[in-house]
Amino acid sequence: MIPPRGIVPLVKSKAAGVAAPSAQLVYQSGGTVLGAVEVVPIYWGAYWSGTEGAALSAEINGFFDFILTSSLMDMLAEYSTPTTTIGRGVRLPSVQIADSEPGDAASGGRQVTDSQIQTALQSWIANGTVPAVTSNTLYFIYLPPNVTAIDQSIQSCQDFCGYHNQINMNIFYAVQPYATCSGCSFGTILDSITKISSHELCESITDPALNAWVDPTTGEEIGDICNDTTARLGGYLIQLEWSNSQNACALKPASAGASSARSQCDDRQV
Ligand SMILES: [Zn+2]
Repeated sequence: MIPPRGIVPLVKSKAAGVAAPSAQLVYQSGGTVLGAVEVVPIYWGAYWSGTEGAALSAEINGFFDFILTSSLMDMLAEYSTPTTTIGRGVRLPSVQIADSEPGDAASGGRQVTDSQIQTALQSWIANGTVPAVTSNTLYFIYLPPNVTAIDQSIQSCQDFCGYHNQINMNIFYAVQPYATCSGCSFGTILDSITKISSHELCESITDPALNAWVDPTTGEEIGDICNDTTARLGGYLIQLEWSNSQNACALKPASAGASSARSQCDDRQV
């Protein structure tokens, strides 16, 4: 089953020797892409002001500082459109929301729905808690431990590891639950978060309004095709992304030299 668009599915193990994915992202005319993404990390909940949460959020900020100026961004240039050239991005100062907690109490933990997240994000924009929206803004909302995100009636860890979405076709955001469950764990908590966040980041750049680059055959976005791949880049665990021009999962442009990404696509067992 193909999950709803924008959702990062859980990684399922593959049998050895499975062929590399074959895919083709196709641009839907007029669709939106982010040419010079400005990421605003939002750390929601008191956890992020504690010792552990503060250290983790600093590492996530460092991940964005690196990845937004990396070869992975350069690779996305092939998904430029007639009106927008995709280049490198920048991280804006992160925001910590300590005066509220995401979601409602539920048995065994808390749950936050996508509609609650949209309401909260719009209030933060309206009252200036977060920077105002520009045509390049991407809000990246990090949830604290033990909070389940619910989107389109399916939930994090059970059905997905993270997702991205939009409000009114001009507010773009991604949601990253604290990923410790088996289908969303890729090592340390930082590894898991950077793997999933790199997937969401690239999808939010190439398909922020869910109307731009997608494989029409499968409905998959750039990250979905390569969901079972990982590699180290700058010390961070990231996910490779689909390159039409290289016909492979990759982490840099073809012009950057021979890529070993294809074999990583083939060999990766999760
Ligand atoms: Zn995805």
